[in-house]
Formats: sequence, C-alpha cells, structure tokens
Amino acid sequence: MAATIISGTQISQEIRQDIKQEVEAMKAQGFQPGLAVVLVGDDPASHVYVRNKEKACHDLGYYSEVHRLSADTSQEELLALVDKLNKQDNIHGILVQLPLPKQIEEKAVIDAISPQKDVDGFHPINVGNLMIGDESLLPCTPAGVIEMIKRTGIEMSGKHAVVIGRSNIVGKPVSMLLQRENATVTMCHSRTANMKELTQQADILVVAIGRANFVDASFIKPGAVVIDVGMNRLDNGKLAGDVDFESAKEVSGPITPVPGGVGPMTITMLMKNTLVAARRAHGLK
Ligand code: NAP
Repeated sequence: MAATIISGTQISQEIRQDIKQEVEAMKAQGFQPGLAVVLVGDDPASHVYVRNKEKACHDLGYYSEVHRLSADTSQEELLALVDKLNKQDNIHGILVQLPLPKQIEEKAVIDAISPQKDVDGFHPINVGNLMIGDESLLPCTPAGVIEMIKRTGIEMSGKHAVVIGRSNIVGKPVSMLLQRENATVTMCHSRTANMKELTQQADILVVAIGRANFVDASFIKPGAVVIDVGMNRLDNGKLAGDVDFESAKEVSGPITPVPGGVGPMTITMLMKNTLVAARRAHGLK
C-alpha cells in the first residue's frame, strides 16, 4: 500500500486559519501581535527567510518590523537594537536571523533577547524550561514536527521514537518533546554504532542530520512514521531532505516530503509563538 504523505503545507494552512481567527478576535479587543525580525548582512538565503516571515506577518494581520543592518554592524549596535525591541510594547516576538557575521557572538545576542519575546525558543531560560517541562516558548522546527505528528492523528505515547541528530536547534529539543508526549526516545548521532539496528526498531523516525538522501528504505521498519527535517541544497539547485523519499516511502508509513514537509511548519510555528507571547503579554490565556 502506498505510504500516506504528511503535507506540512496543508497542515500549516490549517494552523494559519486558526491563528488568523484568533488575531481578529484579539484586534477586536484592541491588541495586535507584533514581530520584529532583525537581519544583519547579505546572506541571500537569510534574505529569503526574512521576506517569508514578513509576508506571513502581513497575511496573518500582525504588526511587523524588519530591521536590515549592514554586514559591518558591531555587536554593540545589534545589542542596542535588541534592548530597544525588548522594551517596545507593540513587539511581542523578536527574531534575530542566524547566522550572524563573524564579529558578532551569537550567544551574546540570543542571551540578550527577553525570554518572553524569544520566539525562536533559543534563550537558555526557554531551553531550561523545555527540559523541566515548565511553560516556555518552544523552538519552532521541533514544535512543528510534533504538531505535524499530532495533526496526522498519530499516537506517540508508548511508541519508540528514534531521532538522528543531536543539535541544539533540532535533535535535542525534538527528543525532549517526543518524550513529553510519552514516547520512548533513542537519540543517534555521528558516533552512534550500528545505527541501522536502532532505526529499524523505530515506530517514529525523525531525521535531522544535514546530509542529502542519507536515510533510505534499509533504515526503516515497515510502516514506521518518517519525519524528514533535512534541507539540503543540491548542486543542481534543487532542495533535498535527509531521507531518500522515493526509496523510503516504499516501506514507511506516513512520511513527510521535502519540500512541503517540515519546512513550511517552521514559519507557522514562529507565528504561533508570537501569538502565544502576545497573549501572555496581555494576560490572556
Ligand atoms: P547540525 O547542527 O549540523 O547537526 C547535525 C546532527 O546530525 C549532529 O548531531 C551530527 O552528529 C548528526 N550527524 C551528522 N552526520 C551524521 C551521520 N552520518 N549519522 C548520524 N548522525 C549524523 O544540523 P541541524 O542544524 O540540526 O540541521 C539538520 C538538518 O535540518 C539540516 O539539513 C538543516 O538544513 C535542516 N533544518 C531544517 C529546518 C526546517 O525549517 N525545515 C530547520 C533547521 C534545520 P554529531 O553531533 O555527532 O556531530
């Protein structure tokens, strides 16, 4: 039987419809969620990401500010802007687009963003709260992975989830969130021995390694859910996931494509986080 394709594009649209309605209700009460995006330098991919975020704000009725700073901006100048945005009442979320030019220390900037406005979920306070299960802003891509699994009606409780990749932005938080959903989680990385033996036991396999088409059908237990976080630009300009989709879908259960899988969920979860931050700032549940 052909595997079900989990469409991040479609799930994203559903979530955005819900967000739109809530924004309208908020506006009727005199509030509007506000997102500030800061871009430093000329990285072409970052410019595309920032434009997409600006468009999402426009489509959903958010107040938005985009600050485009030159590549030679100093750390002090950037921190001064973050400080200003931290104090602005009409801004509920601040996103500083990474990577930053080399004269700026990323950690200093992430640490300077108010945890209540840290809609990327990268601030140590939010990371710590995720770890201990307290209220926090969740990192967007991992939150998107969980939301996709939930909205596809897949039960996580009691399942064996295997995550390949242990980065701070994807692998580690996605593992914590799967555990929060009562899955039993195995984390794999570049030093894992006999990785296939582990992945072949996975009911849910999440792949976030940054190597095009690395995971083929031989890694996958028949019927397993496969979530591909990878976004790799091939020499021919095409985007490829970390999973060899054509091979994997022959044995897997529900599976995400690239593009059109996890990618669209990331911006949508950013918008959701901004809404959550705005709600909290106004004392709304
Ligand atoms: P990263 O920081 O480079 O981390 C890669 C992880 O994969 C590391 O933990 C590494 O292990 C592990 N790894 C690398 N090669 C491996 C191998 N052969 N076998 C097992 N594990 C291996 O990457 P990332 O930031 O997590 O991103 C991963 C992928 O997701 C990239 O393609 C990225 O573009 C994509 N991504 C997509 C989105 C989205 O919105 N869809 C968002 C973020 C990232 P070690 O720790 O041992 O080095």
